[in-house]
Amino acid sequence: MRLDRFLAESTELTRGLAKRALIRGEVSVNGELEKKAARHVQETDRITWLGERLSLVGTRYIMLHKPEGVECTARRGLYPRAVDLLDVPKVERLQPVGRLDVETTGLLLITDDGQWSHRITSPRRRCPKAYVARLARPLEGDEARRAMQAFAEGIVLEGEDAPTRPAELTCLDDHRVRLVIDEGRYHQVRRMLAAIGNHVETLHRESVGALVLDDTLEPGEWRELTPEEVALF
Ligand code: URA
Repeated sequence: MRLDRFLAESTELTRGLAKRALIRGEVSVNGELEKKAARHVQETDRITWLGERLSLVGTRYIMLHKPEGVECTARRGLYPRAVDLLDVPKVERLQPVGRLDVETTGLLLITDDGQWSHRITSPRRRCPKAYVARLARPLEGDEARRAMQAFAEGIVLEGEDAPTRPAELTCLDDHRVRLVIDEGRYHQVRRMLAAIGNHVETLHRESVGALVLDDTLEPGEWRELTPEEVALF
């Protein structure tokens, strides 16, 4: 491919800015200064910009331990965007796979592979997602058993007609529950727990399908998925 295109595909530079970087003498190919935008190059060539070796950006699959106070939107808004926590080129190509609320922490997948993302978020695939919620009020008496049964059967959330799909509730201790859902309705976990008269104080996503958040990642940290993890979906 042309050298200016290679630069645009491997850095934050646009084609226009890549051409200017070339004219300024910032680019070398196999150790030689190169100024021609039309120069034909290949991946095997050693191409550097300001001394840093470049390689083409491939398809990316990332797990982020989403911290609180971060948005899963494509546009810049009130809060920092999840993709802005990733120090990678071509960040504008990356999209979160589904959404977590600003306050929710935990496993967020991010990719530039739209088909892979669709396989996870498509309602037809019924991909299970596990959340741990800390409740404002402990579940008392046989409340836990009744909630488990109601969620297993499906409940109608406020403002909706169709009941939720069967979901699995497990009590972890008197204030914490795990809820596994295979849908992605708006604020679904918070609304389901509100429907049984409680309030979610904190919410954390542990897993998506068989993929569990890497416990070595601190909030705000991320890593690329392994090929085996990518192949789970
Ligand atoms: N359900 C919610 O209520 N919030 C999330 O962030 C994810 C699921």
